[in-house]
Amino acid sequence: MTQVNDGPMAHTGDLNSDAHMQLVDQYSARNYAPLPVVISRGEGAWVWDVEGHKYLDCLSAYSALNFGHSHPRILDVFIEQARRLTLTSRAFQNDQFGPFCQELTAFCDMDLVLPMNTGAEGVETAIKTARKWGYTVKGVPDGKAQIICFSGNFHGRTTTIVSFSTEEQTKAHFGPYTPGFVVVKYGSLDALRAAITPHTVAVLVEPIQGEGGVVVPPEGYLRGIRELCDEHNVLMIADEIQTGLGRTGRRFAVDHEEVKPDLVILGKALGGGVMPVSAVVGSKEALGVFNPGDHGSTFGGNPLGCAVAREAIRVLVDEKLAERADRVGKAFRDRIRAANCSKIKEVRGKGLLIGIEMTPEAGAAKPYCKQLKGEGVLCKDTVDNVMRIAPPLMIAEADLDWAAERVIKVLS
Ligand SMILES: *Cc1c(COP(=O)(O)O)cnc(C)c1O
Repeated sequence: MTQVNDGPMAHTGDLNSDAHMQLVDQYSARNYAPLPVVISRGEGAWVWDVEGHKYLDCLSAYSALNFGHSHPRILDVFIEQARRLTLTSRAFQNDQFGPFCQELTAFCDMDLVLPMNTGAEGVETAIKTARKWGYTVKGVPDGKAQIICFSGNFHGRTTTIVSFSTEEQTKAHFGPYTPGFVVVKYGSLDALRAAITPHTVAVLVEPIQGEGGVVVPPEGYLRGIRELCDEHNVLMIADEIQTGLGRTGRRFAVDHEEVKPDLVILGKALGGGVMPVSAVVGSKEALGVFNPGDHGSTFGGNPLGCAVAREAIRVLVDEKLAERADRVGKAFRDRIRAANCSKIKEVRGKGLLIGIEMTPEAGAAKPYCKQLKGEGVLCKDTVDNVMRIAPPLMIAEADLDWAAERVIKVLS
């Protein structure tokens, strides 16, 4: 112990995978149960473990790696900006924040941006926006605002956000819970309509539920939500943290139904896979409610994150990654379906957000993810019986075919 702590700790090249996992077991809180692979390098859609074994990354850090590992353009901007200026706080201005806001609002076809760092902070920001809008614009009596969300939702891990989770483990022993949320059945417009009251300020929806098991709602659902929100003067908030920025084969998943929310929450891929960058992007009416001192974040809008996010958006557009995800994702789903694997109940998703649901006989997805790791493909179960396949959007078609072969082999 003494020796280790006294010595230089800069590199860990002498530890093998088992030794690394032992350290994590001993010194890290057990809030994750990772696959037993210790990654030390990544490039594009591929990663290498400390022993040098190569794997195809079919999770992409839950869609934060839409551009792959170490995208050369994003990395260049990151390094250049890191040398120049990393952080000012919003107490001062910096020369990346303005262009970031201008470019992101243009990309989103929205008016204003409020920057944060993690996805959960973005969701919290949208909740605060909706509440303040409800009280100061809509005229809901103070303290009475209600936000409608959906069964099976995943919006992050703060105490307020877990308050409206419908997952037992997500909530258990983390109360008391934040009031002001109403949960209705995902996919049902009737259930939503029945839940709206004069105190409803917002509907918070994932256009496709990622963590909920890659659940695609019925056609017309998002348009229906938009109409109900218009009818009742309620803000529509789309959590596109996982589905946004090309993942589902469009700029945003709401684009599949040509719906424009009042607020869009972005995170994950917005940071180009190198920085935590999130943002709420929306209308002047909604985001206009903030005054100096109302809300903030020390790192939110930092020049390093802004520079990286600006380049990430440019890469998304220049490399036509949404179109690419649409095309290769469809080919992948078709190929898996055509194989008629005995263990598969359903293949679903849009673009490169793909869920493979196991049959009841096949059971949980996790053992198959472990088997796929042995085949050189890294992926993760979402809910118990769904395997999520969500590789970087720049993945070579030959590599995706290679992954499909292995998925078919393991699930046949
Ligand atoms: C990942 C995710 C979040 C939370 O993002 P963090 O950066 O982990 O806080 C919120 N909403 C959705 C839909 C997500 O997939």
